[in-house]
Amino acid sequence: MGSRRTWKSLVEEVVGRQPRLFSLANILQHADEFRAEYPANRFVEAKIRQSLQVLRNQGVLRFLGAGRYERLDNLPVFSAFFDPTLADGYTNRAQVARVLIETWAEMNLYCLRCSWDGLERLPPNTPVADFRCPECSTRYQLKAKDGRFGGLLIGAAYDATLYAVRAGLMPEYILTEFDTRRSMIVYADALPGAMIGEERIIPRRPLSTTARRAGWRGCNIDVAGLPTVAIVQPAETDRNDVRTRWRLLTPSTEMDEAEPQLPSEPPG
Ligand SMILES: [Zn+2]
Repeated sequence: MGSRRTWKSLVEEVVGRQPRLFSLANILQHADEFRAEYPANRFVEAKIRQSLQVLRNQGVLRFLGAGRYERLDNLPVFSAFFDPTLADGYTNRAQVARVLIETWAEMNLYCLRCSWDGLERLPPNTPVADFRCPECSTRYQLKAKDGRFGGLLIGAAYDATLYAVRAGLMPEYILTEFDTRRSMIVYADALPGAMIGEERIIPRRPLSTTARRAGWRGCNIDVAGLPTVAIVQPAETDRNDVRTRWRLLTPSTEMDEAEPQLPSEPPG
């Protein structure tokens, strides 16, 4: 007989073409490829399952239950930078920030409650929350600011927010401070929504009768002093790496050069 490929190597190759999260059904879609190699085998699904177990035991996969798997050889890449060209065509500063930061969040944020590595954007009119974990349904509200946050966040509608607090339905807050000049997120902190009590929801003045949404009342959320967990923060660069780069930039620097003599009196 010629050298037939093993089931494990066949399955491994198909797994290698899957996204990070996939299901048994995704692998079974390739059943024809397995049958081409093993036309007489009547237990294709059983052989696939067996091979997936081998890959799990080797640390290539993780079983998530209900026929779903996660590849561990395909780690998510996190970036603090956003792509400023995404906002081409927008002139309103608030809209520019919204497009840039929401896209960044969609590509980089992950669930804090479970091990899911992505969040899905909720429909635009969802009260109080912007994102949700597709795995555990934890909801998140993204707040973004070009610069630093003070102790107050601009909240959604007052009544809806108060209702969410009383019903224990406040989302987790992701506070994102960005720098448009450098196209980067400088800080992103996660703040537990359950720590925001009713007394921290401060009503704003209702919109005037001439406004498009006359009578609508928003709120501010006082988050001063509440604890947060850092998702993005400026990191110190390794000092030896800094020294190496510095020496490369200034190659003529001699360590043993005589110290330059400064005039003892300012001239003039
Ligand atoms: Zn989750």
